[in-house]
Amino acid sequence: MKKTIAALMILFVFFSGRAMASPEELVVYSARKEHLIKDLFEKYEKEQGVKITYITGKAPVLLQRILSEGENTAADILLTVDAGNLWHTAEQEILVPVASPVLDRNIPDHYKDPDNRWFGLSVRARTIVYNTDRVKKEALDTYEALAGEDWKGRLLLRTSKKVYNQSLVAMFIETLGEDKTRSMVSGWVTNLAAPPYSSDTKVMEAIAAGQGDAGIVNTYYYGRLMKENPDLPLGIFWADQSANGVHVNVSGAGIVKYSRKVDQAVRFLEWLSEKDAQKIFADANMEFPVNQTVLPHEDVQKWGPFKASTVNLARAGELQARAVRLMDIEGYK
Ligand code: FE
Repeated sequence: MKKTIAALMILFVFFSGRAMASPEELVVYSARKEHLIKDLFEKYEKEQGVKITYITGKAPVLLQRILSEGENTAADILLTVDAGNLWHTAEQEILVPVASPVLDRNIPDHYKDPDNRWFGLSVRARTIVYNTDRVKKEALDTYEALAGEDWKGRLLLRTSKKVYNQSLVAMFIETLGEDKTRSMVSGWVTNLAAPPYSSDTKVMEAIAAGQGDAGIVNTYYYGRLMKENPDLPLGIFWADQSANGVHVNVSGAGIVKYSRKVDQAVRFLEWLSEKDAQKIFADANMEFPVNQTVLPHEDVQKWGPFKASTVNLARAGELQARAVRLMDIEGYK
């Protein structure tokens, strides 16, 4: 009897929690969708002999899951989108700081945590999209200018509930200061042609349909939509080129502090930051490689070069609560 219980306990330990993962396996909790990571993870297994197992889900759900699983979590790595989410994850003290000369070399400082707990792996630009039949490029300039009187009833935006817009406004609090950001957001709300939309794609579809003339979106959504409908009268405009540069953000990752394979997880992140993986990682979503020695996809290159903001993205997290409050006060739904 005792023997049976002992055997069952061994089996239980073996099959519960992280005992499931073999030494040649890493577990990734990913807020990046499966079709954007699958091939790359398989490539790693083929090249390095380390299997990458993953589950996908929404960023806050995955974070909550790691928090509730605690040290029993199977997750070695959390892969998520938006610096706001990465910052928030680091604040929960579940990521381990990583000292890696490879990551330092491959990832510019402003795309990673100053304390090395998270690292950007792809860059997304959030800029102005406009109806090419109704707007002359010359009429566009800054995000702030969209708050001006000549844009009354012409602007379309995605909801302020989306972290992308929270990070955008947080970064303006950093660069413009709170007062100017407040009047910009207030002007945007005044200029709305319709209530905020639930997605960037809906914003662009409405602009293409003439319900408004311009909006602010992540460029990969523009890339996707134009691939499906190349004839849509939509153009990309690089905002703030004579100012602070286009608002950029990242998808990125950190290593979970409960991982028993930190060294192996570091090697995987390093591999993701190198040329070959960067190309695949960015191209899969029409994003920009975080590694500046790698060129984006040729379809993405066609949008032309631009100056991107170089403010450290940790500020997007640090100022997010203030951004949310500001948008709420100004009636940006
Ligand atoms: Fe997105």
